Amino acid sequence: MLIRCPHCKIKNRIPEDRLDEALQCGRCHQTIFEGAVVDLSESEWADIANHSNRLMVIDFWAEWCGPCKTMAPQFEIVASQLPAIRFAKINTDLAPNLSSTLAIRSIPTLLLWKNGRELDRRAGAMPASALRAWLERHGSDRS
Ligand SMILES: [Zn+2]
Repeated sequence: MLIRCPHCKIKNRIPEDRLDEALQCGRCHQTIFEGAVVDLSESEWADIANHSNRLMVIDFWAEWCGPCKTMAPQFEIVASQLPAIRFAKINTDLAPNLSSTLAIRSIPTLLLWKNGRELDRRAGAMPASALRAWLERHGSDRS
């Protein structure tokens, strides 16, 4: 599968069976997923959801959504603080099927995912402190 490096934006080809390892970008050599928010498409999400067992939080957002724009920098702050958790964002306008499958009814919605299933979700924008507190309740589980 292809994952866009959040640092230099180039797409890296990643074998599905290596998704849970530390993934280094072939161009900028920074670690993909560690400390940064990765943009995912519907199909990229499907690959990750089915092949990764790592704890992951996904921000479902859209361009026209004011609270989503307020939330985005808060999400990035917490991503840099909690490198053990993988942070991703999915534009709901570009992922209508997935949004429907996951019953995303309002945005922003944050979904916590692990081992191929949803652990928890939160609807509405959250400040970094509340987001971090929510994640840390689940984040001790790093297996
Ligand atoms: Zn890179």
